[in-house]
Amino acid sequence: MKTEILSMLRETDGYISGQQICEQFQVSRTAVWKVMEQLKAEGYQIEAVRNRGYHLEKSPDVLGEAEIKSLLNTSWAGCDVLYFPETDSTNTRAKRLGDEGAVHGTLVAADRQTGGKGRRGRRWESPAGSSIYMSILLRPDIPPDQAPMLTLVMAQSTAEAIRIRTGEEALIKWPNDIVINGKKVCGILTEMSTEIQWINHVVIGVGINVNTEYFPEELTETATSIYLESGGKQQRSGLIAEVLKQFERYYAMFLETGNLSAMQEEYNRLLVNRNREVKVLEPGNEYNGYAIGINETGELLIRTEDGQIREVYAGEVSVRGIYGYV
Ligand code: ATP
Repeated sequence: MKTEILSMLRETDGYISGQQICEQFQVSRTAVWKVMEQLKAEGYQIEAVRNRGYHLEKSPDVLGEAEIKSLLNTSWAGCDVLYFPETDSTNTRAKRLGDEGAVHGTLVAADRQTGGKGRRGRRWESPAGSSIYMSILLRPDIPPDQAPMLTLVMAQSTAEAIRIRTGEEALIKWPNDIVINGKKVCGILTEMSTEIQWINHVVIGVGINVNTEYFPEELTETATSIYLESGGKQQRSGLIAEVLKQFERYYAMFLETGNLSAMQEEYNRLLVNRNREVKVLEPGNEYNGYAIGINETGELLIRTEDGQIREVYAGEVSVRGIYGYV
């Protein structure tokens, strides 16, 4: 009921009467009052005026199940939302939930991670109160070798969501980062549980530096936040909802073809590496070349000095600009 009341308050410009809420949910005035008190305790500024009712004056940047759900505009992504003020890693949580039978579309979100993860065992800085740490659990009916493309589907969705909500020029650094003005604002980590022939579940984790003001010394050259680039603070829950909305859209395109052909052009338009000289860092092999764009299956096409086109598989590879991160 908290989610629905929050949605009603959001959708009403003026006041909404206690009576109306009571009738809608078939509950007592005291029950409604209790929900309002809970919301106030979470930081929402709700004005209560005798004979007029309740009015939501201000939504703070709080996260919570009701907050996220009340903003969702999706059919399956986020059908279940689990929120934790603190967790080890939202990916780890989502994987555990997946093993226990959680449904396709389950979303795990947290305000802080104590063991935020990047690729290859690296750490993702996850302070409280400013960023998004979210993981979505998927049960796609696709062969396991198609699943790595989902990282690119999420990258496209996140870049698009950031652009829509903030107007910032969010670009994709292949395969799993989003950058603004050449610095990393978001990282994506996909983890799978598979059998030889089929997928049990896929978890896609997204970490977005939203209102972060400071980074640890070693990250200041490469990391940034939406706030640091735009000067404005964002409501995290609204951005989560937009990422999920975009993800549903691009995921449907992906499922239709089983590859990225329907979104390849859009992806390449947002690809920060495109038409740039890059350094490809494969384990035990390093070379330079020009990044052309992705192909239908999400490999990065690189033209090397001898004119050959190489297809780079995401797995173990990092791509850098030749003079820096991008
Ligand atoms: P590469 O650029 O080498 O491909 P990656 O995209 O694989 O890196 P990830 O493994 O996704 O990187 O992210 C982990 C790395 O990101 C860390 O090693 C650190 O350098 C950097 N990092 C950690 N926390 C943050 C953060 N909150 N914001 C931006 N960058 C971060």
